[in-house]
Amino acid sequence: MKHLPKKSEGARAPDGSGNFDATKLANATTAVLRAYDPGHHLPALRERFGTAIAELDSNENPLGPSPRALDAMRAALAESFRYPDPRGAALKTALAKHLGVGVDNIVLGNGSHELLMLLAQCFADSAHSVVFSQYGFVVFPIAAAAAGAQAISVPALPRNHATAPLGHDLAAIAAAVRADTRLVYLANPNNPTGTWFDDAALNRFLLRVPEHVLVVVDEAYHEYVVATDLTTALSLADRYPNLVVTRTFSKVYALAGLRIGYLIAHPSVVAVLERLRASFNINSVALAGAEAALGDREHLERARAFNTGERAWLADALAARGYVSLPSQTNFLLVDLGRDAAQLEYHLFERGVIVRLMGGYGLPQTLRISVGNREENSRLLEALP
Ligand SMILES: *Cc1c(COP(=O)(O)O)cnc(C)c1O
Repeated sequence: MKHLPKKSEGARAPDGSGNFDATKLANATTAVLRAYDPGHHLPALRERFGTAIAELDSNENPLGPSPRALDAMRAALAESFRYPDPRGAALKTALAKHLGVGVDNIVLGNGSHELLMLLAQCFADSAHSVVFSQYGFVVFPIAAAAAGAQAISVPALPRNHATAPLGHDLAAIAAAVRADTRLVYLANPNNPTGTWFDDAALNRFLLRVPEHVLVVVDEAYHEYVVATDLTTALSLADRYPNLVVTRTFSKVYALAGLRIGYLIAHPSVVAVLERLRASFNINSVALAGAEAALGDREHLERARAFNTGERAWLADALAARGYVSLPSQTNFLLVDLGRDAAQLEYHLFERGVIVRLMGGYGLPQTLRISVGNREENSRLLEALP
């Protein structure tokens, strides 16, 4: 290549012998971060255990995606030499109709993870604080740190709380909001606790939080909820323009591998986020799959009903064996062992049953176990000591 100097013209030896270390070059915000812990190497484990593996570590839907989504994605593959629609217009139109909101209220994300990060990037910096609950979703502190904002983690409700053990303490979170707070992240229901708060509690919370604070309610498990006192934060969107709701196609819609989520917000919030959103952040296969999945109500209802029944069955079966789990409105159970959980996690791992240790969340005495299909759940029960 012509523009590269020849060795004799002063090029450096490409032998790695120098002291080059780009970690020293990272900016101040990135310098203090750590890379995401990807957990077990699942491709290797699939080779080791073959079909005898039970992957109960990532809250995926064991029923798989809608057949209509699969058809739509196959069709979209043939067009994959073209760039995707940067507006995601067809999916946004379908979502707007489904949710009863405007197209200008929606931002699509490469997973809701991307949107949670983008919110902090666009609205917070080192002059601001970001508030969330202890044991809240893992992305919240990462989003705050990536924006260089001060993270304020508010102690969770106590273990013996009647309805939401280890859940969000909304009164304490509201009290933690300061003049410099730009964002509050709530997950409802929350991962990893599985706990939730009802519509009335959220309304009381929003009444207390000033408008300069964006309140982000992560509803990744919304479609799994059967508790009658919890509908959706969207029911309050008309009253609180500072309310942002995130959703995902990764959970009940079973498209985790496609990486697609969305948020609903005031048009001015959407306008700010659009400034930094990568123009082609959603690929064309995901756009097509998500739109078709949204249209398949029967598949969704089947997945929801299956999860409700299977979660109760699994919780009972675990309890019968002395393993207590927290109340859950999600597709997973948080099992509280009352002792360090690492040994049990390894015991299960050796038998091809993959569950998630929660030490990284500060909950080393718990395991998060996704509700699998009956075969997987039975394998878990059989593998328990
Ligand atoms: C799984 C999950 C998400 C979804 O993340 P994606 O990036 O959309 O796959 C978001 N929030 C919570 C609380 C989750 O558990």
